[in-house]
Amino acid sequence: MNRPIQHNADLAARDLSVVWHPCTQMKDHESLPMIPIRRGEGIWLEDFEGNRYMDAISSWWVNLFGHCNPHINAALTEQLNTLEHTLLAGFTHPAAIELAEKLVSVTPPGLDRCFFADNGSSAIEVALKMSFHYWLNQGEPGRTKFITLENSYHGETLGALAVGNVELYRDTYGPLLMETIRVPSPDCFLREQGESCADYSRRAFSHMENALEKHAGVVCAVIVEPLVQCAGSMRMYDPVYLSLLREACDRHNVHLIADEIAVGFGRTGTLFACEQAGISPDFMCLSKGLTGGYLPLSTVLTRDVVYQAFYDDYEKLSAFLHSHSYTGNALACRAALATLEIFSGQDVIGQNHELARYMANATAHFQEHPNVAEVRQTGMILAIELVKDRKTREPYAWQERRGLKVYRHGLECGVLLRPLGNVVYFMPPYVISKDEIDTLARVAWEGILKAVTD
Ligand SMILES: *Cc1c(COP(=O)(O)O)cnc(C)c1O
Repeated sequence: MNRPIQHNADLAARDLSVVWHPCTQMKDHESLPMIPIRRGEGIWLEDFEGNRYMDAISSWWVNLFGHCNPHINAALTEQLNTLEHTLLAGFTHPAAIELAEKLVSVTPPGLDRCFFADNGSSAIEVALKMSFHYWLNQGEPGRTKFITLENSYHGETLGALAVGNVELYRDTYGPLLMETIRVPSPDCFLREQGESCADYSRRAFSHMENALEKHAGVVCAVIVEPLVQCAGSMRMYDPVYLSLLREACDRHNVHLIADEIAVGFGRTGTLFACEQAGISPDFMCLSKGLTGGYLPLSTVLTRDVVYQAFYDDYEKLSAFLHSHSYTGNALACRAALATLEIFSGQDVIGQNHELARYMANATAHFQEHPNVAEVRQTGMILAIELVKDRKTREPYAWQERRGLKVYRHGLECGVLLRPLGNVVYFMPPYVISKDEIDTLARVAWEGILKAVTD
């Protein structure tokens, strides 16, 4: 087939006349180029003029083993020629069954049931509704509240937005959202000088303990992002917080929802972040890396006692009421299985430890810069917090858009970095090489130098 040669500018112009992009002030594109991508391979994206961009943020944290990964491609091609999709009510298919079996076996003990949805926010909606409905079925209709951490992010549909606390996403839609009980975050950036992260997280837990003591009777669940509040500027906390939280949720008889949508599948140095605290939540939400970054899919894993609370004669009307058209899509499930095969076929977690150490060394000198408040890292997530003054930690005014300067510099140098406000971060696919990490660190460093000089 003879296609006309396409250029970046033509496609960008066509795009901007019809597409409305996510999380974007479209007017920015009067000066910021829209970049049409022609193909992807490994950690690289290539535009229509042959420029390559290192995908240092895994295309919004979804990609694990590179673009157009041969193993996942092959599995998908086979699935495509067998079954692309079927409804999952009354019908099932091998990919959904195998994936549920596999997820039950690799997630923390006690998570024995797998409910599918088709994106991260939907998984949060499912977990919230399921927890509420569990208590309802137990004869406790008065439990209608959720406890959530400051600076948390759980997605952008109304329920998910309501339990999140990043102002940028939440405030505008505040009047539409259910009320939650908000507790200060264990975010270690807020620790005192000389205080360890573990001590700070332990100290911050007193707020959670107080909230549980006060409200447990009306609370369905506590919802957290284990170890890293990713959309909340990659703020991190110590696993001890999760251990304390698990114990307290048991003692106060409320559910614990672990949103591992961003941190699951090896990002934090273990397959799931909860493992670092040795805990099992009552609900675990997974998406993003679940399909290796190929297709939208999500799942909520829960315990048998939750499942049993819904299991009854039809006339009791106690069944869980939730569905999405593409729930458990066969292609997406197959991509997820192929992704999990890569984890079981090689020591991904071990190799990541090596890469994480390498990232730490490559950015060690960033710590000394007068406009860097902190370089923090949990496994394969590394974040650099830029501030106006390192001593007082006074932040840059958001209007200055320092991060955007790093973004622009990155693009000029063939690296896709997409800072969150004034926080530059690396969350690369696991197939990044050491040389590529060196390039990434160099470009980020230059970008930061540019961004902090007026
Ligand atoms: C991305 C994200 C979500 C929402 O997932 P979507 O697929 O974007 O709806 C929820 N929770 C966390 C922690 C996330 O990072």
